[in-house]
Order: sequence, then C-alpha cells, then structure tokens
Amino acid sequence: MTQPVFRFAPSPNGKLHLGHAFSALLNFRAAEALSGRLLLRMEDIDVVRCTPEYEAVIVEDLRWLGIGWEEPVLRQSEQFDDYRAALGRLEGLGLVYRAFLTRAEIKRYVADFEAGGDIWPRDPDGAPLYPGDSAVLSEQELTARRKGDAAYALRLDMKAALSRLEKPLSWWEGPADESRARSVGDWNLGHDVVADPAAWGDVVLARKDTPTSYHLAVVVDDARQGITDVVRGKDIFPATSIHRLLQVLLSLPEPRYRHHELMLAENGQKLSKSNFDTSLQSLRASGVSIQDLATKFLNGSYVPG
Ligand code: GLU
Repeated sequence: MTQPVFRFAPSPNGKLHLGHAFSALLNFRAAEALSGRLLLRMEDIDVVRCTPEYEAVIVEDLRWLGIGWEEPVLRQSEQFDDYRAALGRLEGLGLVYRAFLTRAEIKRYVADFEAGGDIWPRDPDGAPLYPGDSAVLSEQELTARRKGDAAYALRLDMKAALSRLEKPLSWWEGPADESRARSVGDWNLGHDVVADPAAWGDVVLARKDTPTSYHLAVVVDDARQGITDVVRGKDIFPATSIHRLLQVLLSLPEPRYRHHELMLAENGQKLSKSNFDTSLQSLRASGVSIQDLATKFLNGSYVPG
C-alpha cells in the first residue's frame, strides 16, 4: 500500500471555526492512524480577501489543536502559473470559452424566464446554470464586449467536456461515520459514487483577472501534492463531480474521497466564519480544554453552544 497523503486546505479569508477544527482533526487522526502524511495548503486565490494575518491565526489555531503537518505550506497564490498552464491545456482541447454575462444580467434573464411560469435549472449550490451569452446579448453587443475590455469569466463547455469521456465518471467515497477514521480496516470500507458534472452546467474555471477558480486549483494542487485521500466537509460533496471531470480531462490521478458531516450550531445553521463565538481563536482565549473538545468532536458528542 502506498503511503496515504492527506491535506487540510483552509482559505485564510477569516478565522477557523469549530467545523474547521473538526475537519483538520479528522485529517490529522486519519494520517496518524494510517502512518500517512498530512500537508497544509492555504487556498488563497482570492488575494483581496485572504490575508497573511488570517493565515497566521490559522497556523496558531492548528498548533493549539495539537496538529502537525509537513512543511512547506503550499500557498495557492504562489501557483498561478501552474493554474494558467492547466487552463491552457483545457483551452487547447477546445473546452473553454469566454463568457461575458454579468451576475446581474444572468439574474435578470432567469427572472424573466421564470416569470413565464417555468423554472430555470440551478446547480447544486443553487446558482442558475449559465444561459449562454447569445441567449441574452445581441450579436452586436457580444462583438463589442469581445473587442473591448469587458470583464469575462472563462467557463468550461460542459457538453463538449462530457463528450470526451470514454466511460462514466465516478469516485470512491469512504465511510461518513467519523469514528471509523481511527481504524485502518474500516477506512477501506467505501463505495463508488456516480459523478454528475452536468448538474453544474458550464462552470467557471477562471476569470479575466484571476487565472483559476477553486475547482481548477484544487485538482491541480491535489495532484501536485500527491494527495491520495481527500477528507473534507459534505458541503463540497457535489463539487467532487467537477473535480473528477477535470482530473480526467487533465489526466491527473484520482484520489479517494470522504465527505464528513458538517458541524452545526445549536440552531441547526451551518457554522460560519462570521460567527465569532465559535471561532477557535475565541475558544482558545476562553481557556477551553482542546483535548476535551477534540475527544468530543471525534466521538460525535460535541454540541456547539
Ligand atoms: N478551501 C476550502 C474551504 O476552506 C476547502 C476545499 C477542499 O477541502 O477541497 O472550505
């Protein structure tokens, strides 16, 4: 068996909360249980919202949790050339196009469409599928935007991408029961999930001023870092369909996946970075015992209050 490689990949655009701690601890414990490696990756492609200050707090939080990782930390903001190269390969396959509709134009188009009584399709995150420039803009307007310096997104032509697949896409999904991460045997219990990238429509791969989106960067980096096991929250489960598609198109290896339960606040809402009370930094300051917290996380008895 090759040595498993795990990663924790936070975005330093805010402070970590308990949900992140849970995810990081799961990765750490799984790597320990399987004599694997744990890498840390800062997903800081949004260079405006991500800051070195947040990164420093994340590192402090993780140390406080007793988590160790291999240096160096990979920063996505330092890998833009590689994302450009991957995008270039997809462009070379004729799978990428410039999309000029603004968010407001898409919203208006969908509202007009739905005023007729029909429902416009949404992606798994609830965003409307891209209607296509020519559904909204006149030929003249489109030509003007192409020639001028209008903003655009670089989107994957989903239909063309799917037509390149030689077999149906799937991925290996490990057990969702967190306690199993501690036993090597149980870790191998899993099942195949059929991927459904079409549900996302023409996803954004990059923008005029940013050479990558989360989806492109994550597959490039999981491959670059030799990640064998991706352990992350259930909220990203549907996006794994896109990741598998990009891996096949770019001939990248396929990691195993495991999407864990999300930790919810007492009111049943998802924890968010703006909720100060559950930020690890404030918990640290309150003198809470992290050993106690970690044990409760991993046996499922922790309820944020
Ligand atoms: N950067 C993402 C987040 O902080 C995690 C992405 C991943 O694990 O694939 O939610």
